[in-house]
Amino acid sequence: MAPRLFVVSGPSGAGKGTLVSRVREARPDLGLSVSATTRDPRPGEEDGVAYHFLTDEAFDQAIQEGRFLEWAHVAGHRSGTLLSEVDKNLSQGHSLILEIDVQGALQVKEIYPDAVLVFIEPPSKEELERRLRGRGTEAEKDVQLRLGIAAQEMELASSYDARVINDDLEVATHELLDVLSSFESE
Ligand code: ADP
Ligand code: 5GP
Repeated sequence: MAPRLFVVSGPSGAGKGTLVSRVREARPDLGLSVSATTRDPRPGEEDGVAYHFLTDEAFDQAIQEGRFLEWAHVAGHRSGTLLSEVDKNLSQGHSLILEIDVQGALQVKEIYPDAVLVFIEPPSKEELERRLRGRGTEAEKDVQLRLGIAAQEMELASSYDARVINDDLEVATHELLDVLSSFESE
């Protein structure tokens, strides 16, 4: 099995985080890149685990020092993948998942054409809205912002290498596991 760089994206609230954590329970060998972000931590989010939470100044400095593989403006903040997170996993021979937005995914594909882009889709717009509100982590204006961005992101799904519809969680988890192993055995 060859280690691969997988990029998982899709609208906020589609269930990327939920699916990736289930996939990693089944595949503890898979690495996960911890992104840097300028957004505030949500309750329960630990620095260095959920994200590396950076001030605007520290984020600017990381850009100047060339420490990002990619970064983008996402939902009113900046988030980016640190090269050190990718190198650490690939150099140890582990496949790695980046859970990042579509702008970042397309940047990664330009730099690493072998990267596998996987798009996670909600079963419908209505269900996406239900999940986003049900998660209860965003203020109403952020929910609206994320729904607007979701519509644009869905248009880019066709440029991805694989798509998984996250309707039933169990089924979607197995589909994502199958996508990973089929590209690893290519
Ligand atoms: P994302 O990481 O894409 O923003 P989350 O993983 O945070 O999304 O999921 C958004 C919400 O939807 C969470 O409350 C999560 O528990 C719920 N959720 C995820 N997958 C499913 C599913 N298949 N069916 C129902 N609810 C789901
Ligand atoms: P959240 O604020 O819900 O954690 O994430 C919001 C969005 O930011 C999601 O679409 C997520 O994929 C994206 N994101 C998280 N980390 C990164 C990153 O390192 N780079 C890019 N481009 N997007 C990211």
